[in-house]
Amino acid sequence: MGRRKGGNKALAPSGQKSTPDADGMNLDGGKGQEEAPEVVAIEEKAESSNLEDSPLIGSDKTSADYYFDSYSHFGIARSLSLIHKPFSAHLLASSPKRREMLKDVVRTKTYQNVIYQNSFLFKNKVVLDVGAGTGILSLFCAKAGAKHVYAVECSLMADMAKEIVQTNGYSNVITVLKGKVEEIELPVAHVDVIISEWMGYFLLFENMLNTVLYARDKWLNNNGIVLPDKASLYLTAIEDAEYKEDKIEFWNNVYGFDMSCIKKQAMIEPLVDTVDQNQIVTNCQLLKTMDISKMAPGDVSFMAPFKLVAERNDYIHALVAYFDVSFTKCHKLMGFSTGPRSKATHWKQTVLYLEDVLTICEGEAVVGSLTVEPNERNPRDVDIMLKYSLNGQHCQVSRTQHYKMR
Ligand code: SAH
Repeated sequence: MGRRKGGNKALAPSGQKSTPDADGMNLDGGKGQEEAPEVVAIEEKAESSNLEDSPLIGSDKTSADYYFDSYSHFGIARSLSLIHKPFSAHLLASSPKRREMLKDVVRTKTYQNVIYQNSFLFKNKVVLDVGAGTGILSLFCAKAGAKHVYAVECSLMADMAKEIVQTNGYSNVITVLKGKVEEIELPVAHVDVIISEWMGYFLLFENMLNTVLYARDKWLNNNGIVLPDKASLYLTAIEDAEYKEDKIEFWNNVYGFDMSCIKKQAMIEPLVDTVDQNQIVTNCQLLKTMDISKMAPGDVSFMAPFKLVAERNDYIHALVAYFDVSFTKCHKLMGFSTGPRSKATHWKQTVLYLEDVLTICEGEAVVGSLTVEPNERNPRDVDIMLKYSLNGQHCQVSRTQHYKMR
């Protein structure tokens, strides 16, 4: 569904566009980005993905339940999405989701550039591809000169990966192992490089990061490297009157009937969608940086304070989270951002609607904290607690809201 066409654009100054440097990579110095420079890898003409959103709402289910219940959530697109990567037999070669991931040029091309432009990291090295899917990253590594690549994939896609490896003549370099990283036996005791594309919506949804950390602790050489090795989560605030009306307030009166019980549910579930940069009202605040080479599994739970300062007089309807990842072991820093000022990726952004509409004046700040932790019942789901307050000229509010990504 098209999004963010309306909003308050007329009142909004136009955002700055990223300008790629000679390498096709840029650091986005957009307005309000002082705390949160967005790292962008490429600015090619991308076939960027656009997941469809539908307003169907779920109940008290976890992501595992949704696998078999594709009409229960915000839409088919999400319920058959990357969320279910580890379990999904749908992720075959014909799968639109699998294709969509590969066609996410920002994502795939960044990995390709990282590998091809830094072949010194791979030459004669033993590589482990955690969650190999079609084997695309393993193929990149093999082509860059890796001594051997172990491609571990737990879904049925492993069978396709084997065939793909063979078809492309890399059977002597790439070994596809079908199974869970946590359960397979690797033919070697140690690897030099771990590569993975583990990021979920809101960075942590699906919690595949712990699988990477498991592999790191079990097999990575002392001087081995993890790619990517940094991931950061950011928060900003947006004007979103039109879309909130469409997605949330809609339920108050549906052809004359009160369906506001669904509205409560819709408020709890963060919306994965693209946000127009012109909707951004405040600065962008860095919440948390994770060092994948050092962090402990428990570090995926955290509480981060924030201060979002308004850059103009406006209304705030939602906070928006997004992430970037970087590969700091490259000859030059490389990475990409999923922020609203960067080229869209299939991760889009994550929108947390606020109970209150905040009337904010330039210079005033929404302060608070975001607490993020895996759901106890299903650790692949994420529980988010948002505390915020504004003590402004036209608006004084203080509230706690709970969200569940599932
Ligand atoms: N590397 C591929 C696929 C990334 S999607 C690419 O970049 O295109 C992540 C993949 O990890 C999915 O195919 C999923 O099935 C797999 N996966 C998730 N958890 C896993 C686990 N614990 N063990 C093995 N594979 C896993």
